[in-house]
Amino acid sequence: MIPFLDLGAAYRELQGEIDAAVSRVLASGYYILGPEVDAFETDYAAYCDARHAIGVANGLDALHLTLCAMGVGPGDEVIVPSNTYIATWLAVSQCGAVPVPVEPDPATHNIDPARIEAAITPRTKVILPVHLYGQPADMDPILAIARKHGLRVLEDGAQAHGARYKGKRLGAHGDAVAWSFYPGKNLGALGDGGAVTTDDDALADRLRVLRNYGSRVKYVNEVQGYNSRLDPLQAAVLRVKLAHLDAWNARRAALARIYLDGLRDTGLVLPHVPDWAEPAWHLFVVGHPQRDALQRRLAETGIDCLIHYPIPPHKQQAYADAQFGADAFPLASRMAGEVLSLPIGPQLSAQAAEQVVAAVAEAVLSR
Ligand SMILES: *Cc1c(COP(=O)(O)O)cnc(C)c1O
Repeated sequence: MIPFLDLGAAYRELQGEIDAAVSRVLASGYYILGPEVDAFETDYAAYCDARHAIGVANGLDALHLTLCAMGVGPGDEVIVPSNTYIATWLAVSQCGAVPVPVEPDPATHNIDPARIEAAITPRTKVILPVHLYGQPADMDPILAIARKHGLRVLEDGAQAHGARYKGKRLGAHGDAVAWSFYPGKNLGALGDGGAVTTDDDALADRLRVLRNYGSRVKYVNEVQGYNSRLDPLQAAVLRVKLAHLDAWNARRAALARIYLDGLRDTGLVLPHVPDWAEPAWHLFVVGHPQRDALQRRLAETGIDCLIHYPIPPHKQQAYADAQFGADAFPLASRMAGEVLSLPIGPQLSAQAAEQVVAAVAEAVLSR
């Protein structure tokens, strides 16, 4: 059996360090914010090459609170990818604003900068690219469009901890980056967690207030804020795991290399890595017109693959009210039918990846 991702194995590899960190928090008497959260914020900001990191409760809140802090509200529009996890859209909707989808570049699966300007209206406030699958989006053209139209840029980095764009770590290319520490992410907690990184002092200040009941001084509430604080137990775990992130991402990159080399002549659509990108390899996504049959064949040989994502946001019942037509966003719709994520993770052995290559090649070439 080759699991898609083995979170138990990840914990066991660091068990001594993680257990010690958790015990330290339990004994400290600090269970909301406090020194562990401060220390993680310092460490993570430094790692991301950003001035500030603000810990919040999860990735969705990181997106939502940042849009709030940017002043996004009812009547506003935010440009989002048509092919993303629904959280990107929900964060916009939670502000009372409208997500305006833009189709991806089929080669990279990331938002196509050439299609963004056509989607801008007088109501547009923010462009929200996603670094999907851990592959950095093409930030320079996006930032140029934002500057030209006076828009802010919030990046969804939930899948891309440690990735670099043109040599610089993701963290503050745009105005801010929203991060998720959901357990299966490259930097994953043992529960929910999230953060925002930014170089913008005013934005960071607003986020610190918004995440804690709109309060800077206890029982003094400046704005109608939220309860969305990073748990110090998770902050302590994240500090341990952050120290291993580069090494674990390097293991992912080595597995990606095995897949890229081994699957080159199979006719599968393989990830395209532009020369300016250093991906975090959160997912290794291939494309195949008979995706469902391929997934079934692999499951029969004990290889667990997933689909990211089977239904694009515009086809979800949650967005039925937006009344997108049957032909809306054909690229997102086509990808949802063809993408398949092969097993990848820091605890997957090279030997297991070779087994996946052999099984995929056999399944594809014997058809
Ligand atoms: C995981 C994820 C999120 C949301 O993170 P949570 O911590 O689960 O709220 C947002 N955007 C993308 C692209 C994600 O993959």
